[in-house]
Amino acid sequence: MPARAEGAETTPLGLYLHIPFCSAICHYCNFNRGLIDEPLRAAYVDAVCTHIGREAEPVAVDTIYFGGGTPSLLSPVEIARLIDACRSAFVLSAETEITMEANPETVDVQRLRGFRESGVTRLSFGVQSFRDDELKRLGRVHTAARARAAIDEARTAGFDNVSVDLMMWLPGQSVAQWLESVDALIAAGPDHASLYLLELYPNAPLQEVMAREQWSRTPDDDAADMYEDAMARLEGAGFRQYEISNVARTGRESRHNLKYWRDSGWLAFGCGAHGSRHGRRWRHVAETRAYVDRVAAGADPIAQSRTLDRETQLAEALFMGLRLVDGIAEDTYRARFDQDVWSRYGIALSPALEAGLLIRDDEGMRLTRRGMLLANEVMRVFV
Ligand code: SF4
Repeated sequence: MPARAEGAETTPLGLYLHIPFCSAICHYCNFNRGLIDEPLRAAYVDAVCTHIGREAEPVAVDTIYFGGGTPSLLSPVEIARLIDACRSAFVLSAETEITMEANPETVDVQRLRGFRESGVTRLSFGVQSFRDDELKRLGRVHTAARARAAIDEARTAGFDNVSVDLMMWLPGQSVAQWLESVDALIAAGPDHASLYLLELYPNAPLQEVMAREQWSRTPDDDAADMYEDAMARLEGAGFRQYEISNVARTGRESRHNLKYWRDSGWLAFGCGAHGSRHGRRWRHVAETRAYVDRVAAGADPIAQSRTLDRETQLAEALFMGLRLVDGIAEDTYRARFDQDVWSRYGIALSPALEAGLLIRDDEGMRLTRRGMLLANEVMRVFV
């Protein structure tokens, strides 16, 4: 099993738990999710608990992340059961960060208190926009007012670590409209924020709606302004950017997501979930019922698994590490992979250095802000 790959752990593991249910499907969504189905939901929670128990081993864990889908559609009792299953199977540190993604329309103070009591320490709200017209366009089922209320309710319920996701470069969105949402986010006072560019997938219903309504996106230059102006406003409000798409107040960086960017190991549970440990990558069957059936039958829910050679491991680690504002310390990678990063990639990365997209000094390598905007081009050398 991938979870039992050879090699000592150098840092505590993370656990990713996928909850695939949603109350409505957003027009742009390309995640592994489906509409909530009550009988399937109960069977699914049982299956994830069983699967966690099967992977038990005395290894340190310091982050748990409930992603989705909409994990906040589960009850606090179900979330508590899943956390307890993790606690029984692994060695959870007292400081374990337990994040739950939540949609504003699924919570109230009472439910949030329940999640807090069940052990959740961090909430990540999918807000996407603080403008009702944009929320409607995206097929979101909450309003901007509900999003603001949910953040306030989280504080009332005792959460001192709250993140908000926003999406930029929406159809028909001007730079000024985008910055309205950024200002509203700052006013709502979260501890962390993630800003993503809306990705338009070929089969997303949003494509059809855009064609019908004749909505288009502003030019690429505007998207660059959106990104740079938002980062400037957030920094002015006391946030520090630490990753291409993420800002946080001091000490409120996502410890779980840092595992992805720092190439640490994490185990995965639930349908379609991906895990990574000791150079192995695996993913589970995507379909919810198939996952439940496989676990119930005592079978392995893994759909695909591969072990990366050292060269590919290094390339993936650099690809992820350069997303961090602090970039990568070449010494660390030399010690870990027994390869000199600059000897291997120097020629390919030189144009990015000369174009001012990348900086290399005694501390290592990192992208400039302009380099972050053009990260896909810089990172192409690792693919
Ligand atoms: S709530 Fe999230 S996972 Fe569910 S449909 Fe909307 S974008 Fe997709």
